[in-house]
Amino acid sequence: MKLLHEKIRQNGKVLSDTVLKVDSFLNHQVDPQLMKAIGDEFYLRFRHDGITKVLTLESSGIAPAMMTALNFGVPFVFAKKRKPLTLVDDLFTAEVYSFTKRETNTISISKEYINAGDRVLIIDDFLANGEAAFGLLELVKKAGAETKGIGIVIEKAFQSGRKRLEEQAIRVESLARISSLEAGNVQFLEEVDYEKTAI
Ligand code: 5GP
Repeated sequence: MKLLHEKIRQNGKVLSDTVLKVDSFLNHQVDPQLMKAIGDEFYLRFRHDGITKVLTLESSGIAPAMMTALNFGVPFVFAKKRKPLTLVDDLFTAEVYSFTKRETNTISISKEYINAGDRVLIIDDFLANGEAAFGLLELVKKAGAETKGIGIVIEKAFQSGRKRLEEQAIRVESLARISSLEAGNVQFLEEVDYEKTAI
């Protein structure tokens, strides 16, 4: 996705060989035009999958998930990260180790909002080792629903997330795939022929 690649090149800050900071357009300040383009692209890629619900993790997944859900005409649900104090019986929960924060969180969704029979598209901002994705997959499974695929805004292809997910036959669609952050430079996995892409 040309617009996203350009944004990453122009505004992404490489913090280390493994961490990219994108606070200026995705993780803190949010670029709505870019979010719209992201929502359009995820819709294009999953439009034949009968999606009935979009699921993400607060907070950085919310903007791309909402724009995606808008295109599908379905609700989106964001899993909460803070440990719930009450009404635990009404929740599906999963444990997620955070790559950036180096801590384990219990993520949860209300049992009301994902149901058996739902066909779920999971959206997240980054894919690193797949911990967040596996946590969200577990919530869908506990709800008796089906995950149709995972849409990732920025994949760090040099980490293990995609491999681990594909081993479980999960479809992963990423809009930008980074092969390296070494020496402070962002390198993308493949040079995309932008003439052939939608955006
Ligand atoms: P994973 O769960 O796949 O190991 O890591 C993905 C999660 O960690 C994402 O939800 C994202 O919040 C965070 N994350 C992982 N790597 C990065 C990174 O390089 N930059 C930022 N901003 N967040 C990251």
